[in-house]
Amino acid sequence: MSTSALKPTTERASELRANLSEIRDRIKQAYGSAPRSTSYRREPTFVAVSKYKPASDIVGCYQDGQRDYGENYVQELVDKAAQLPQDIRWYFIGTLQSNKAKMLATIPNLYSIHTLTSQKTASSLNKYLPETRTDPLNVFIQVNTSGEDNKSGLAPSLSSPSELLDLANHVVMACPRLKLLGLMTIGSLAESLHAKEALENRDFEALARVRDQLEEKLREGEGGKWGDEDGRLILSMGMSADFEAAIRSGSGMVRVGSSVFGERRKKGE
Ligand SMILES: *Cc1c(COP(=O)(O)O)cnc(C)c1O
Repeated sequence: MSTSALKPTTERASELRANLSEIRDRIKQAYGSAPRSTSYRREPTFVAVSKYKPASDIVGCYQDGQRDYGENYVQELVDKAAQLPQDIRWYFIGTLQSNKAKMLATIPNLYSIHTLTSQKTASSLNKYLPETRTDPLNVFIQVNTSGEDNKSGLAPSLSSPSELLDLANHVVMACPRLKLLGLMTIGSLAESLHAKEALENRDFEALARVRDQLEEKLREGEGGKWGDEDGRLILSMGMSADFEAAIRSGSGMVRVGSSVFGERRKKGE
């Protein structure tokens, strides 16, 4: 596909620029405002979630300097990555089956995966990353902080037997081409509403706590690479409805979709 076919209209481009600018301002403000008790704060990375949105929308945001994009579906991500600039950092944030790991691993500029929940998938990713890739693939383990059945993720518990601790150890010890960079959660709608009044989202506070505990366990371990440049695990939490509360709880990565691109069609529409 030629790049001109990927160009957004002038009107759409200016709409996207305005939305990006507003989100960036709100992120800055939330980061600058009084934090809740949290052991680690870093300036949040803003991941624009572009699922179901045309590649031309991404080009519009790219022209405004946006380089971080989240996608939920493997095929859609493969198609977009092939058409769009190589210096985009792609974040896979959708449900991941181990039989799709190979396809995902071959995207050269895949930056991270936020939805790891199984050792099998971790091993597949580690196995299929191309030889030409020099940087490790960053992974986030998804944690179900709200306990809702419709959310995937491992329980936020480290008391043995702990699937979360076992998976973290597996990535760190047995998957040298992966780097455990952090933990991800999707907070419940109830907490997102609660936080509007109480300024506290208990799902996000729970992820911050389990992060601190997991780091302690990993430090007791045999080593292996994990964490960011400060040696800390990053929290990936916060979407359009709740990213400010997430930042107050120490989020280092927010995933914002509809506030940038507008409402999406629902699956199957
Ligand atoms: C779709 C999605 C987002 C973005 O949601 P918005 O409410 O549109 O901001 C963030 N994270 C995950 C895991 C998603 O699936």
